[in-house]
Amino acid sequence: MTAQQKVNLLGLSRPQMEEFFLTMGEKKFRAQQVLKWIHHHQADSFEQMTDVGKALRQKLSEVAEIRGPKVTHESISRDGTRKWVFEMDNGGAVETVFIPDGRRGTLCVSSQVGCAVDCSFCSTGKQGFQRDMTSAEIIGQVWQASRAFGPRRNLGQHPITNVVMMGMGEPLLNYDKVLTAMRIMKDDLGYGIGKKRITVSTSGVIPKMNQLSEDLDVSLAVSLHAPNDELRNQLVPLNRKYPLKDLMAACKSYSKNITHRHNTITMEYVMLRDVNDKPEHARQLVKLLNGIPVKVNLIPFNPFPHAGYERSRKNDILEFHKYLNDNGVMTTVRTTRGDDIDAACGQLVGQVKDRTRRSERWKESIFHRAEQTDNRSEERRVGKECRSRWS
Ligand code: SAH
Ligand code: SF4
Repeated sequence: MTAQQKVNLLGLSRPQMEEFFLTMGEKKFRAQQVLKWIHHHQADSFEQMTDVGKALRQKLSEVAEIRGPKVTHESISRDGTRKWVFEMDNGGAVETVFIPDGRRGTLCVSSQVGCAVDCSFCSTGKQGFQRDMTSAEIIGQVWQASRAFGPRRNLGQHPITNVVMMGMGEPLLNYDKVLTAMRIMKDDLGYGIGKKRITVSTSGVIPKMNQLSEDLDVSLAVSLHAPNDELRNQLVPLNRKYPLKDLMAACKSYSKNITHRHNTITMEYVMLRDVNDKPEHARQLVKLLNGIPVKVNLIPFNPFPHAGYERSRKNDILEFHKYLNDNGVMTTVRTTRGDDIDAACGQLVGQVKDRTRRSERWKESIFHRAEQTDNRSEERRVGKECRSRWS
């Protein structure tokens, strides 16, 4: 059997791992041992698994492997944000970002290489779609980030407390693989991350939103970005297939499924200068969201070369924010983190491809940071999950 054909145990959830051992003619409890070795002890070889007999370890190494995505770059920002670039098999690269915030540490995870949805303000969309990531590649980002923090003592002390599926790609268009990876994130034999602390962000793939509410209890964020169909059709082309009326109905039913158990849906709204940031947009948004338990997260647009959009003026963002809050829609403004290492929204993989722009961007990011310092305390309150965009 060649390395290519070996089963990568990194990407197996508990039931899949049990199935694997049963198929090998082994006992089910082996699954628990091996899951712990991989995700708690960060093992990458069967040799390390000292409570598994030598013969079984030998057998495992013939048919299986533990293989994470290959790290090609790693950087740490002055604000503590860390970024890893992973090289994918068959080409392409994705990035993962860790954002520390007091006791919380949020890992922003990718689900696809590129993205087919092609939102007009998103650099991943501009790259086109290359391929879905495997569940091993998705959970492998958590595994590699964990390894970078050193050995785990126990679940409670783990630096990664939250995961947001807000990296590259549309997670609900790679549903099965993302679901498997999230099951491993939630499992105590995996990372033991609670349902409120795992967030799937979607541009609005309605059938899969419905399915997710049946399959797994996690938090949902919807990339709304516009309060009417005409504008949303331009910004998020998927809106032509799943228009706002249907999307809002799907959000309502999702929230019915989840609200009694935990929280509201987050509506993400990227602030694009003179495009979707006017008082009339705020008024329409309040009407649109009426009756749905949501909180709105305003994301100042992160520019990238040839984007064709600009970030909204600070004052327009503040007024938009105030109007929504004054009208009963809980709203926060997202801060930009890690911009000195190009780890902020819209600033990722492009730098690996084109490092020549780096110093120029670095200067720009310093400017943005200076602009942001006076509303830091407001931003502190904001969930600091990352939006990983790639140019
Ligand atoms: N595909 C999913 C998840 C990844 S995108 C989705 O669209 O929800 C994560 C978030 O980053 C989305 O809300 C997306 O709209 C936002 N985003 C994309 N490009 C951005 C940019 N240049 N600046 C700020 N936010 C951006
Ligand atoms: Fe894809 Fe999300 Fe970017 Fe839209 S915003 S192109 S769905 S990654």
